[in-house]
Parts: sequence; structure tokens; C-alpha cells
Amino acid sequence: MSEYKMWIGGKWADAESGKTYPVFNPVTEAEIARVPLGDKTDVDKAVEAARKAFPIWSKKSQGERFQMVMKIAAIMRENAKEIARIDTLEHGTPAGLASMIAGDLPEWFEWNAYNARSLMGNTVPQGPNELIYLQREPVGIVALITPWNLPLLMIVEKLAPALSVGNTCIIKPASINSLTALKLAELLDKVGLPPGTVNVITGPGGIVGEALASHHDVNMVAFTGSSETGKTIMGLASKTVKRLQLELGGKNPVIILDDANVNQVAESMVGRQTFNCGQICASPGRYYIHEKIYDEFLEKFTTGMKKVVVGDPNDETTQMGPLVSAEHRNRVEAYVKSAVVEGAKVILGGKRPTIPPGNKGYYFEPTIITNVTQKMKVAREEIFGPVAIIMEKFNSDDKVIEMANDNVYGLAAYIFTQDAARGMRFANELQAGTIQIGRTPARDQDVPWGGFKESGIGKEHSVVGLYEYTDLKRIQVDLTLRK
Ligand code: NDP
Repeated sequence: MSEYKMWIGGKWADAESGKTYPVFNPVTEAEIARVPLGDKTDVDKAVEAARKAFPIWSKKSQGERFQMVMKIAAIMRENAKEIARIDTLEHGTPAGLASMIAGDLPEWFEWNAYNARSLMGNTVPQGPNELIYLQREPVGIVALITPWNLPLLMIVEKLAPALSVGNTCIIKPASINSLTALKLAELLDKVGLPPGTVNVITGPGGIVGEALASHHDVNMVAFTGSSETGKTIMGLASKTVKRLQLELGGKNPVIILDDANVNQVAESMVGRQTFNCGQICASPGRYYIHEKIYDEFLEKFTTGMKKVVVGDPNDETTQMGPLVSAEHRNRVEAYVKSAVVEGAKVILGGKRPTIPPGNKGYYFEPTIITNVTQKMKVAREEIFGPVAIIMEKFNSDDKVIEMANDNVYGLAAYIFTQDAARGMRFANELQAGTIQIGRTPARDQDVPWGGFKESGIGKEHSVVGLYEYTDLKRIQVDLTLRK
């Protein structure tokens, strides 16, 4: 078992209180590490370090920052195997998927390093004796508060743009799995960033996260997590009018129209529903299937879900590993039970499978629940597990759009049809930040990502996402001043 430290002001530190908390392996259920239990005192130290580093980091030329961020990308590439190993160890990510994610991380730094070099201002014409120009500047000290579902990717997506444009950062990773964040700190320590440019603090969201969100010297909170926590952060941040970027939950409708290619959709949805054990914000949240193809889709989808190989994420044949924690598995199970109580039918799974040896690990079977109506809890709330929610069949385009929009979330929506124009008509009507016609989403750097309604505020990725980490200053000059 390993003992970890936090990274504050370029130094490794225990929590001021000396307290630690355990991290568990979701496959063996064994304690694998102890991590400092930070609190407000540690947050104050980190904010002070970031405040001192800000004038140094923000005043570097864009070219100097570019060189440094590219070094981060390089060291992450050299260490991709080790990052993937820790991801599997603390999160239970199947090894192949963990390697793929770790292999993609450097590109987030490269993309942002390059694009930060072309941040542009503007001049506003004002006649012969006056000039107004608009200049983009870093926001200041940014707190990055992140979830456990893709532990390091969720950090990197925020850190890469925030750093590239000159902010200093305090990372607060999820408590369940903060080891990849501490590995990142170890790598950052080697690239020679000015001390305090990036800090990593571990500890409970209710203490460390809240201290960051309410700290008067923190200028922005970039948060990914549940909508409930997002609302708490909004409330705390409002006291000092912080910039907010919130990537929150989803209950994403999947609409399968009567002209869809049923084989293809069923296959792709099996993959999507069980990807990362369903612990993905953009996972299919509820399926609306046209009555003409309902039976055919359900039969093919069920056959596919039955074949998903659940097991040890270190085994190459494994397609789906365990859920992240015992507590989260209890939560997923409670949703399945609530569906039954409310009159829905579990037609596949719904239980803990037996996984040899020793039957340990927080596994849950790929599950399908049918006969779900709009008002049921499983139709309204995010489950975050490998549980497919099949709504009652529909036969009217207008009605299904109304039902799909009848939810507080607005993250993603999927439409399957072979008629592109029909798909685009749906896209115009659906209330979601991401609409997928005929395919599942990819989180890539080139296009913005972010939710409508209670799924968030602001966008990540692309130049739009990069701009979120800058503020726009208006500078007005009287050109007759010298007279
Ligand atoms: P939580 O909201 O529980 O936690 C997210 C982070 O916030 C953690 O670091 C947590 O710390 C911290 N936190 C918890 N309570 C507070 C608080 N009161 N004040 C400040 N910070 C706090 O989310 P989960 O970790 O359970 O992640 C799953 C959620 O994330 C799902 O809803 C999912 O949809 C969403 N998500 C959204 C994405 C998007 O792009 N829209 C992408 C990925 C996930 P601690 O771990 O210590 O509790």
C-alpha cells in the first residue's frame, strides 16, 4: 500500500491536520493507498501559492508557455502506460480502454498549446483620435473540481486550456480515485513549471471543494460532476461572483425512428450502454423506440447485452469492468429496485454477477428495464451504470420530441434514422447541447461540448472552450493625449 502527498506550491505536502483517507481497488475491494485528507487550511495554502505564481506564469510570453505545455504533453506520452495502469487499478477501467484514454491525453495539451498562440483581440474603429482595443487575458486562479468517472481525462480537459492561456490552477480530484491526479502532479513537478502554477489538493468535496468555490482569491471554478453539486458550487461562487464553467449530469434520450438500421443501432447502443460500465455523462439515458421496430430492436439489443464480457479489467477479453465503488453499486441497485416497485420490468440483469476468483469487486450485470413511463424515477434521474431504460413504444414524431424534452437535463440526445432531413428536424427541436444523428458522441478537441438546462453552463473544448478561461479587457485610448 502506498502513502501519497498533495502538491502545493511545487512541494509535496501532507494535510496540515496530518489526516489521511483510503483509496480502494474496485476489483479486489482492497485498500491500495492512503491520500491526505485536505481541509480549508490546505486550500488557503494552495490558493496563496497559485496567487504568487500567477504574475510569473501569466506574464510569460505565449511562446514560452507553449514550450512548457508541450513539455507536459511529452512527459505524459512517455508515461502513458503507467497512467493507464493506475486508472485500471483505482477505477477498474478495462486495460484496453485505459490505454486508449491515456494515449489521447497528450493531444489535449498539444491542441490547447497551439491554439492559445492564436488567441486574438479586436480593435473597434472610433474615428481619427480614438482607439479602442479588446485584449484577452487569463481569468486568474482557477479551481478545477472533477468527478471520478474518467478521473484524469476530466482534469486534463480543463487543465490544458486553463494553463495554456496563462491561468494558475488548483486541482481538486474526486476522492474515490485521486491517484492519477497525483501521478500528474509528479510529472508536472519534472517539467519545471514555476512553483504554484498547478497545485493538487485531495480531500472531501464538502470541505475542500466548498472552500475553493467560496474562496475570495479564486477567480473561476471549472467543474464537472453532478447537477446537485453544480448547484451548490453556483451558490457558493455567487458570493464572490466567480466565473463558472459547469459540465453536469445528463439523462440523454435515444430516439430510434421506424426507418433506422436496427442491426447497427442495436450493436452501437450495446457498446455505448456498457462503455466505462455506463459511468459516462453522455450515456444513453432513456430509449424511445418506434412501435414498428420496437420488438426487433429489443430482441437484438438484448442479445447483444447478454454477450458483453464482464470481468477483471486486466483481462484483455473484458468489455466491462466493475462500477467504481460499493456505494455507487448500491445506488445503481436502488434505482433498479425503484423501477420494479413503480411497475417496470427487468428483462435482463439487475443483479451482481458472480466473478471468480473470490467473487470480489463492485460488478453489476448489463441490465435492461422495460415498460418505463415518463414519471418513473428511472426515467427522470441519471443512473450512471450499465442499465438501459426502455420507455413505452411511440408512434408520433411530435409526441416523442415532447417526451424527450420533458426532463430537467439537456446534455446529449441521439436520433437514429436513415433520413438525414428527418434527423435534422429532430435536432432543431431537441433541447440538448449535443445532438447525435446516426452515431454516438466523441469528446474531441475541435468542437465545443456542454449542456443545456440543468446539464451545465459554458462549453469545453475548441476555441470556444479556450475562451472560457480568458476574460476580455476593453482598452480605450485618446490619441490626442500627447498634446
Ligand atoms: P459529484 O458531483 O459527486 O462530484 C464531483 C466533484 O465535486 C468531486 O471532486 C467531489 O468531491 C466534488 N464535490 C462534492 N461535493 C461538493 C461540494 N459540496 N462542493 C464542491 N465540490 C464538491 O459527481 P461524481 O463524482 O459522482 O460524478 C458523476 C457526475 O458527473 C454525473 O452526474 C455525471 O453526469 C457528471 N459528469 C458530467 C460530464 C459532462 O461533461 N457534462 C462528464 C463526466 C461526468 P468528492 O469526490 O470528494 O466527493
